[in-house]
Amino acid sequence: MIMARVYNFSAGPAMLPEEVLKEAAAEMLDYEGSGMSVMEMSHRSKTYDNIIKTAEQDLRDLMNIPDNYKVLFLQGGASQQFAAIPMNLMKNKVADYIITGQWAKKAYQEAQIYGKANAIASSADKTFSYIPDCSDLPVSPDADYVYICENNTIYGTKFKTLPNTKGKTLVADVSSCFLSEPVDVTKYGLIYGGVQKNIGPAGVVIVIIREDLITEDTLPGTPTMLKYKTHADNGSLYNTPPAYGIYICGKVFKWLKKMGGLEAIKQRNEEKAKILYDFLDESKLFKGTVRKEDRSLMNVPFVTGSEELDAKFVKEAAEHGLVSLKGHRTVGGMRASIYNAMPKEGVVKLVEFMKEFEKKNL
Ligand SMILES: *Cc1c(COP(=O)(O)O)cnc(C)c1O
Repeated sequence: MIMARVYNFSAGPAMLPEEVLKEAAAEMLDYEGSGMSVMEMSHRSKTYDNIIKTAEQDLRDLMNIPDNYKVLFLQGGASQQFAAIPMNLMKNKVADYIITGQWAKKAYQEAQIYGKANAIASSADKTFSYIPDCSDLPVSPDADYVYICENNTIYGTKFKTLPNTKGKTLVADVSSCFLSEPVDVTKYGLIYGGVQKNIGPAGVVIVIIREDLITEDTLPGTPTMLKYKTHADNGSLYNTPPAYGIYICGKVFKWLKKMGGLEAIKQRNEEKAKILYDFLDESKLFKGTVRKEDRSLMNVPFVTGSEELDAKFVKEAAEHGLVSLKGHRTVGGMRASIYNAMPKEGVVKLVEFMKEFEKKNL
C-alpha cells in the first residue's frame, strides 16, 4: 500500500500530528503490555486512570491552569455547551453575548431558552469580518456572565484583546484556538472547546471552569449529565468518558510539550499565518476577507471575487494534495485552516500553488 498523506486544510475535524497518529497506530493492538487497545479497556482500570490523569496534568502544565479550576473531559460537542452553560451559570437568568459569528449566535439563541440573553455587541453588519470594540459595552448589571467565541472558525476573526466585562464572569468558546497560544486562564470563569479543531478526534469537549462556578444550584430540569458538578465530583468518570479520544488528546498534549509549549507553538503559528497573509496582501487575484487587526492565526478565509475561479481553485488545489480548502457553505470562497498540526511546509506549498494559479488565471 502506498501511503500518501495530504495537506488537509479542513476546519474540523482537522489534521493531527503525524507523530501522534503513528504512536497510536503502534499501540493499537497492545497498549503498554495490556494486551488490548485503549478502545477496549475499562475506563475504571488502573491503566486508563493513568491515561486520563496524565492527560489532565499535561493540559494543566501547558495552560498553566490554577488549582482552583477544574478540567472536565465531556461529550456532546461544543454545541451541547451552548445549553449546559446557561443551565449551570444563569443564576439571575441573565447573560450577555457578543455575536461575532454563527457559533456565538447559536450559543446566544440556545441561551434564550433558559433566560434573558442579551446581544450586547455584534459584527453581523459586515458579515462578521471584524471583532467589535468591546472596551465599554453595555454589560447588564445583573448578568451572570459575558459570552464570547474567541476565535471565529467560519469567518477567520480572533479576539486579540478580551472584552471588558466590567467584573462579570467571562465565558469563552475556544474550540478553534485551543492551545494555539498561551492564555491567562484567570481572566476567564469558563473556557471550553470541542477538541476536533485543534487537539484531537471529535467526541471530546474540554471544559476548564473556576471552582466557585460549580454548584448544585443549576436551573430546574438540568439533566444530571449536563451538571458540571456531576463530572467535577467524579474526575470526568461519572459515566464512560470518550476514552479513546481523551487518550489521543493526551498524546497531543505530550507533543505540544515536546514542541516547547504554547509560547513556542504561538511563534510557529504566527510564522505560518504570516506566510499566507503576506501573500494575500500582495496578491492581485486572492483577497483576505477579514480586517487585518482581527485576523485569526488558525482560520484564513480568502476569495478571488469569482465563484467560478474559487471552485476551480479548490478543485485544482485538491489535485495537488492541498485538500478541504472550500470555504464554509454560508460564506463561499476558500478557507485554509492552519491549526497546530499543519506543518509550515503545508502553508508554503499552498502559497506556491496560489502563486502559480494566479499567474495562469489572472
Ligand atoms: C466547530 C465549532 C463548534 C461546534 O462544535 P461541535 O463539537 O460540532 O458541536 C462550536 N464553536 C466553534 C468555535 C467551533 O469552531
